[in-house]
Amino acid sequence: MIGKIEHLGIAVKDLAKSEKTYAAILNTMAYKREIVESEHVETLFFKSGENKIELLQALSDASPIAKFIEKRGEGIHHIAFDVDDIHAEMQRLVNEGFQLIHDTPKRGADNKLICFLHPKHTHGVLIELCQEIRE
Ligand code: ZN
Repeated sequence: MIGKIEHLGIAVKDLAKSEKTYAAILNTMAYKREIVESEHVETLFFKSGENKIELLQALSDASPIAKFIEKRGEGIHHIAFDVDDIHAEMQRLVNEGFQLIHDTPKRGADNKLICFLHPKHTHGVLIELCQEIRE
C-alpha cells in the first residue's frame, strides 16, 4: 500500500547555508545528518509537525543531486511516499507501465529502503517510494 507523503527532498548547493534557512523557517533544528554513499549525497532532516523535509547536497559531480542542480538549479527534487512493502509497490507500478530508475531498492537515508520512479512518466516529478527498514 502506498501511504502518506513521508518527506519532501530539496536539492541544495550548500548544506550549511540551507540548514540555517530551514532552521529559521521551521523554527527548529535539524534532527538528523547522514551521508548516503550510494547517492553521493549528504542529507539533513527537519521535522515540522507530521512532516519531514530532507535537504540534499551533492558530495561529488557524480551525484544525481549535482546533475539536478546543474540542469534545474536548487529546489524541490523529489516527493517521497511511505510504502509498507516496497517490492510489492515497485511491481504494481511496473505493471501500470511506470519506469523505475533502479530495479531493486537501495538503502537510503533515515533507515529506509528507497526506489525512484522515472520523472518522464510522472509529469516531471521525481517520486520516491520509501519503506522503513524493520530489523
Ligand atoms: Zn528522499
